[in-house]
Amino acid sequence: MPIRPENRDRYPTDWKAISLRIRTERAAGRCECLGECGRDNHTGRCPNVNGGQAYGTGSKVVLTVAHLDHTPEHVDDSNLRAMCQGCHLHYDRDHHAETRARTRADALAKSGQLDIFGGTS
Ligand SMILES: [Zn+2]
Ligand SMILES: [Zn+2]
Repeated sequence: MPIRPENRDRYPTDWKAISLRIRTERAAGRCECLGECGRDNHTGRCPNVNGGQAYGTGSKVVLTVAHLDHTPEHVDDSNLRAMCQGCHLHYDRDHHAETRARTRADALAKSGQLDIFGGTS
């Protein structure tokens, strides 16, 4: 997942090094998802390896690092999981939908379009 601009400041300055260490040293280039993504297309650990062909789709695997609790500041090893883009996107999908909905509701409320009863004017 590319880092969203509004979250850029929340990543530690050594995030690149941390991310690289997780992906190369701990994960040895392989997706560490054990099914957390919920996409049900791999049993046990995901077989996708960075730069290889993605399991299922055949596209090129790009290993990323996911935050299990979706909190960019939280960079304990236990909260980080090297994930291929397929697992990562799927893992984040519900969270992204929620964030988008909340951001939109906030924006509407601020602009006065949304009254206290939730209707639009
Ligand atoms: Zn994967
Ligand atoms: Zn997965």
